[in-house]
Amino acid sequence: MLKRLLNFLFPQQCIHCHKVIEQKFLCDECFKTIKFTDDHLYPTSSQCYARLVDELGIKVGMSMCFFNKETAIQSLMHCLKYGKKPKIGTWIGRMYGEKLLYYHFEKSFDVMIPIPLHKDRFKTRGYNQSYMFAKGMSDILHIPVEENAVIRTRNTMSQTTKPRAERFENVKGAFAIVDPNKIKDKNVLLIDDTITTGATLISCGKEILKCQPKNLSVVTICVAVD
Ligand SMILES: [Zn+2]
Repeated sequence: MLKRLLNFLFPQQCIHCHKVIEQKFLCDECFKTIKFTDDHLYPTSSQCYARLVDELGIKVGMSMCFFNKETAIQSLMHCLKYGKKPKIGTWIGRMYGEKLLYYHFEKSFDVMIPIPLHKDRFKTRGYNQSYMFAKGMSDILHIPVEENAVIRTRNTMSQTTKPRAERFENVKGAFAIVDPNKIKDKNVLLIDDTITTGATLISCGKEILKCQPKNLSVVTICVAVD
């Protein structure tokens, strides 16, 4: 009753086209425009894998969907990062968790490590979007999320407007390991929101590799394509 009244007074809107909807976040039409990858079928032929394997020697690399500007996925990612809507992260994390469970990935990883935010950015944002996504996946796959094994020591500038070479320079040495025992001899799954050049994942991944995990894999929500 209260829920219906609240819906009447404050109707939920699609975050992309602003149509009034019953469900969360996106209307059916906008949801259908999201282009999901087949990375779960070919986790060593993906864009994510190709961008990271030389530097990190990852076991598998998967992105849930392709990132396209001016589309519903951009609105979704924008709201997840800047719109104080952490539940978008758990929602899509569960969705991807279901897919990975169906393809038996639940035994492939021992621990999930979301790319950490610097504590100042965490304070302004209120949550880590990559943690929320990992948490959603964890609800389905029952793989623990380790939030405090790695920290971000420098509050790096946003990467989005930087050219490729600067992106790598910008995040160099930006991460530090706090608890190597959470990593050593584990099948580690590193989680990020979007992979573009891979600079952030490579910088963080290199620190993780110093702690001798059994192996390292990567999952991202989006993969940016030119
Ligand atoms: Zn819509």
